[in-house]
Order: sequence, then C-alpha cells, then structure tokens
Amino acid sequence: MTKRLYYDRSEIHEFDSIVEEITSPSPEQPRPAVILRETAFYPTSGGQVHDTGWLTLVVGDRVDDREAERLRVIEVADAEDGRIVHYLEAPAKLPLPGAAVHGSIDLERRLDHMQQHTGQHVLSAAFIELYQMPTVSFHMGEDYCSIDLATPAVSPEQILAAEKRANQIVFENRPVRIRYVSRAEAEKLGLRKLPPAERDELRLIEIADFDLSACGGTHVGASGQIGSIVLRKSERVRQGTRVEFVCGGRAVRMARRDYSALSEAAALFSAHLWDVPEQIRKSIEESKLSRKQKDDALDQLAELMALAALQSQPDNDQSQTTGRKIVVRSFSDRDISFAKLFAQKVTRANVPVIALVASTVDPPGLVFAQAAGGSADMGALLKQVLSSVGGRGGGSHDFAQGGVPAGSNIDVERLLREAAGTIEA
Ligand SMILES: [Zn+2]
Repeated sequence: MTKRLYYDRSEIHEFDSIVEEITSPSPEQPRPAVILRETAFYPTSGGQVHDTGWLTLVVGDRVDDREAERLRVIEVADAEDGRIVHYLEAPAKLPLPGAAVHGSIDLERRLDHMQQHTGQHVLSAAFIELYQMPTVSFHMGEDYCSIDLATPAVSPEQILAAEKRANQIVFENRPVRIRYVSRAEAEKLGLRKLPPAERDELRLIEIADFDLSACGGTHVGASGQIGSIVLRKSERVRQGTRVEFVCGGRAVRMARRDYSALSEAAALFSAHLWDVPEQIRKSIEESKLSRKQKDDALDQLAELMALAALQSQPDNDQSQTTGRKIVVRSFSDRDISFAKLFAQKVTRANVPVIALVASTVDPPGLVFAQAAGGSADMGALLKQVLSSVGGRGGGSHDFAQGGVPAGSNIDVERLLREAAGTIEA
C-alpha cells in the first residue's frame, strides 16, 4: 500500500519519498513506472483525474534539480493492490529502488482539480437539498465537468436555483473537513453517498452543515476557495440528466472565452453584446425574405425567357409533320437549377416542345425535358449523349438531368447539338 499524503492534507504539493519499485519500459507498457513509499500524487479515481509533476533524485541532502535528472510524471494510476503507480515520460534515466526522490506536483493543475471536485460536492448536495435529485456519476473533462443526476429532466428554473444555492454555500466560505469513521458509524451519519462495502474505515468529506460524503479525492479547505460555480448545458442521457458545470479558474476562463466570442459577434453587427440574439433573429428574417424575393425574380425571369424562346422558334422549324418545337439553350451565367427551371417553364406551355438546356457554370450540367406526352425519350437521350463523355445522369420519359465531371472541359453545347441532331434524325 502506498501511503497517500493527500488523504490528510490536499495542499501538499512538495514531498520526499523513497523509490520502492521501478518497471522499465516494455512493448506492452512503453512508459517506465515508479512506485514510491509515499506520494502526494493523486491517481485517477472517483471522477477526478490524476496529477502530473516531477520526481527529482535526492543526492545526500541535496535535490538534484538539473533538467536532465528530472523525471516527468505524466500519469498516475491506482493499482489493484492499493499501490499508486507513477508513469514517466520515456525515455528517462531511471533511479534504482531505494533511491531518495523529491516529488513536486503541478500546482495549478491540482488546484483546478480541487476547485472542480469540491464544487461538485456542493452542487450535488444542492440538487439533493432542493429537489432530491441524487448524483449517480461525476466526470472531470479538460474544459468542463459534469454530473449525471438520476432524474428524467431538470428545468431551466431548477438549474438556476441549484446554481444560486451552490454559490451561496461557496460565498459563506464554510470549512471543508476530512474525517475518518468506521463503516458502522458512517451508516448512522446519513451520508449523501455511501460507497460499496469494501473498506472498514471511511474517509468522509464534510462541508460544514451542508454536506457529508465518503470520498477519496482532493478538496479545498474552505468552500470559498471554489471561487464560483457556473452551470452550463444540461441534456438527457441514458442514466438521467447530465449537467455541465465549471468552477473557480475554469469559470473565469470560460467566461472570458464566451465574452470574446460574443464581442466578436457584436462587432459584426455593430451592436451591444446583449443585443446579439435579437440582431441574429433579424438577420435570419431578412435573409429568408431576400431568398424568397430572389427565387420569385428567378421564376419570373425563367418564365419570360421561356416565352421569348418559344415565340422565336417557328413551329415548322424542326418537324413538318408534328409541328414540334425544339428549344436549345446553353447558359454560361446561370447554374443548373436555373437551367432546370427554364426547361420546366418551356415544356409547361401548352404546345408540343422539347427543351435541351445546359449550364456551363461549374459543375456543368444538362437538362432534357419535353411537354407531357411527347414521343421522344428524354432519359434515354440524355444517357446516350453523356455516355460518350463519362457523364452521369438519368430521368424519366419526359424529364432527365445529368452532369459532366467538374473541370473536365467538355463542351456541353456540342452535346446539346448532338442531342438535337438525334431527335431530328
Ligand atoms: Zn470528493
């Protein structure tokens, strides 16, 4: 069993110890691992992530802190036998068992974890006090933390009320104490959460007159050190409702980031931060309206162009017997959806007509259409002209659409002439 220095004093971040065991890198475990007699490094457990830091060899009574002699601790884990394993960045010059080392923990990272973790105790207790919603799991991520509450839903009002109550406890700066009790005693104390029956002695974390729970993590000494607790997103998950939150320094960093994003958005609208949602709503409305106006104008334009095309095309131009018109048109300044619209307008007129239309705007495309009941087969015709150039497309008897590979320099106007020639033949 490794003696856990953080159990009694979470603030220890410098300590001396002796190396008990060293595991050299292997193919299965490429990082060297060190086991110490005692450690202040926290191993990942109970939702809280591990510490990082340094181990430095002690020679005589001097800490050898030359860069080359320092071992970087990149991960810390709990082994099944109760020992704590420190994984080192490889390759490193490893100390021998029995060597004296000085450990130093990345303090900023540890303080952040203490703020988040103690904040979680306060928040979980607030949800119990106000709504009897128990916490079933806790997750500490890189940017934010979350708790899963055993409840199908949490309303926005409940989020606000829990946040308010939790911050009240923070502002009252209540002492956070560590106590050890027997399991039998713990059962009488009415803990918020009792761990599975494994150990006889339990480590309790007490936030004065507010929360008492069994926990092996690191915590601040008074609730005021949490700084503040800010609740963010909540969402339905399999085991209940997940509530995201940030405490202390993270809350400040997150607020700074939100402020920067919002400021940038406000500057784009030349508006105040708080007016950004209203500005976005307005701008969405405006763009919807202008899209509709544009669609209407294009529809009218296609209609007029179709009429003009039909009028300029003599009835007997192509076929003496059927009086069928063939409208051939290639657009270099309009896309394929306009070409389609134009073809539809041409063939909707109450005359026997075939429209062979193309757009040369990249990616170039073709639309073949005929008035309902025409004798030609548009789908087959399109397939026929596209097959020679590796294009793709298809459709029905009266309407077909396809394209040639983008940037292929294929002359779609030539394909139109080819199609017209096939019909006339
Ligand atoms: Zn805890």
